[in-house]
Amino acid sequence: MSAPFEILRVAVPTPLRRSFDYLPPTNTTLTDCRPGCRVEVSFGRQKLVGVILERTRSTEQPGHKLKHVLSLLDDAPVLDADLLELLRFASAYYQHPVGEVVSAALPALLRQGKSANAEPAIYWQLTPQGQQVARTPRRAIKQAALLSALHTAAGPLSDAMLKARVVGANPVLQRLHDLGWIEKVTVAPDSTPSSASPTAGPALSDEQAAAVQAIQAALDQFGVFVLEGVTGSGKTEVYLQLIAQQLLLGKQVLVLVPEIGLTPQLLQRFEHRLGSAVALWHSALTDSERLQTWRSARDGTAKVIIGTRSAIFLPVQDLGLLIIDEEHDASFKQQEGFRYSARDLAILRARARQIPILMGSATPSLETLANIGRDRYTRLVLQHRAGGAKPPHFHILDMRRQPLDHGLSMPLTQRMREHLQANGQVLLFLNRRGFAPTLLCHDCGWIATCSRCDAHLTLHHSDNQLRCHHCGTQRRKDPVCPVCKSEQLIDVGVGTERIEASLHKAFADYEIVRIDRDTTRRKGSLDALLEKVRNGERQILIGTQMLAKGHHFPNVTLVGILDTDQGLHSADFRATERMAQQIIQVSGRAGRAERPGEVMIQTHHPEHPLLHTLVEQGYDAFAQAALGERQLAELPPYAHMAIIRAEATRPTAALAFLQDVAKLLVKFAPSTLQHFGPFPAPMEKRAGKVRAQLILLSTARTTLQKSLQQLLAKIETELPSRSVRWSVDVDPLDTY
Ligand code: ADP
Ligand code: ZN
Ligand code: ZN
Repeated sequence: MSAPFEILRVAVPTPLRRSFDYLPPTNTTLTDCRPGCRVEVSFGRQKLVGVILERTRSTEQPGHKLKHVLSLLDDAPVLDADLLELLRFASAYYQHPVGEVVSAALPALLRQGKSANAEPAIYWQLTPQGQQVARTPRRAIKQAALLSALHTAAGPLSDAMLKARVVGANPVLQRLHDLGWIEKVTVAPDSTPSSASPTAGPALSDEQAAAVQAIQAALDQFGVFVLEGVTGSGKTEVYLQLIAQQLLLGKQVLVLVPEIGLTPQLLQRFEHRLGSAVALWHSALTDSERLQTWRSARDGTAKVIIGTRSAIFLPVQDLGLLIIDEEHDASFKQQEGFRYSARDLAILRARARQIPILMGSATPSLETLANIGRDRYTRLVLQHRAGGAKPPHFHILDMRRQPLDHGLSMPLTQRMREHLQANGQVLLFLNRRGFAPTLLCHDCGWIATCSRCDAHLTLHHSDNQLRCHHCGTQRRKDPVCPVCKSEQLIDVGVGTERIEASLHKAFADYEIVRIDRDTTRRKGSLDALLEKVRNGERQILIGTQMLAKGHHFPNVTLVGILDTDQGLHSADFRATERMAQQIIQVSGRAGRAERPGEVMIQTHHPEHPLLHTLVEQGYDAFAQAALGERQLAELPPYAHMAIIRAEATRPTAALAFLQDVAKLLVKFAPSTLQHFGPFPAPMEKRAGKVRAQLILLSTARTTLQKSLQQLLAKIETELPSRSVRWSVDVDPLDTY
């Protein structure tokens, strides 16, 4: 119906796939109720914080049923028009309820209704006594970080800025204050202290300069640039130069990095080069620290914001450039709830703002390479490593019939010795933590399995536990078989813990460090371990994919990749792509210095064509071959995919539900929409739930989009939920 008065359409955080209409609040003028402002509304029996999407005169709700908004919470929108548009698009594209999408874009404290406006600014500066403090206690990393920031700034820095940069800064600032090393100053808002002066970087190589120029020539317009170069080729230098130029223009820059890539080293490097106006956004921040970063992005005090996935929703006012480092990284895709791709949304955001976006990677995703092939993205290449370091040599080690010493072949251990004797460090990569992935009874064949998942329990020696890596269940390992009481229990297979143990025996003269989730659980422990590698206290590293990203080990001369067989023979269509990226990423840790590195790849499938292409001709050749396979199979990026996943406690319920979904689908879907399944998920039972999936594919994005939208509407009206939980994943990164 058409109303004689204006109505507010509000995104309310509920799982319902729609927005809700309200009358304006009684005590506020309508013009203040701008789209993007938060409102408090009553919803059922609850009071919820929603966001105004638009003002309208038409509503499907009968007029007498409309309730008034309880109150308007903002005097200015918390989501500007661009962001609001992006979120509405994302809600439709990823088929996720708009209320939850909008809510995901706000810091927790804003979701709870806290004021978006900055509190009166507090600034800190060094006291004369603080200026004298040359050293802080060795363990006081945060104290040191804060003091050094204030030293470099040579003037006051805002409380907000310091908190955005050092996690958990609050008590530390208090402590420094108590020590008499720092003091509070109030600074008039128009005399915001300038940050430290930036330091000049190295003179750029020709390739780097060409990359910088290409983007500089295209500022103030939308364009996607892909900076392709191995680790150490100088990509970060290109970012820094471009950012420095943006800062001179008074613009802000948003840099997205993978979850694991936001290291203290990276932050230090950025701050050192750019001055101190760098703010952080990541999951280890507290809610109030996040709000600080959000505010400093909005009011423009943070000039550079480095953040993980959800930083794409920060209200950066004067965004001049967007950068995504390691664009291929899976952590840019949210894997639960609102399953968005921050990389893809970043491209849309850049387009809306008419600014360039720069995506860097040693191993661009096949999606990105396909877009380069279609001339949608501009490819910029850094062929040569900065400082002239040579690329590593690859060897494929045929593991068939090789005697194995706990996962290590003879040729590999031999080569390790040679490298160690020549004072090189060795890095071993195995993407499986724990001691052994399987515990087997030699007498009766019993295998330790998880009662809640279709999975073996992994044996962890250090605390004698059997753990499920899928649901977290754990229990003590009994000394005897629970079935036949035999003591002949055998550990089958190798994990990082076992490799570490055998290395201790085989390489007793060297120090070994293991880096995986088990050894880095405590905050700060990863950095401590990495430091031991960097300063040479440890010569052999064994670790999982935590090693593949971000960290530089200049003295590593040999990389051993212990198991590629998983990646070559997985059911997931992206498995080979991911394996190739891992091999290249891990290999990139070696041979940065004068000494060329060497990479040994253990496999039982030495003849695998893609593996050969990868090591003989490099990642690009591999990617072209892999793209060819995808095209033949009509898989992404040559088709668009969505997965509907369902799970239930009752064994057949999820599959039965998806069979009904498939029946609905065939009634209306065009022939250009293919569907596969439903079938049980590759790991059918997980955490006590039985799971199934239905895959939809179309070569036309709009066909997939339209069909999905219709399908979901029909599911909601025609298929009662029947205690089945289901979700939609558009552009899924894996098919599990
Ligand atoms: P990437 O981001 O591709 O891994 P970096 O930008 O970190 O590469 O560069 C690797 C190393 O080489 C760094 O120590 C960096 O300071 C140095 N470097 C990069 N570009 C140059 C250059 N043009 N001249 C000298 N050193 C450089
Ligand atoms: Zn037994
Ligand atoms: Zn389990």
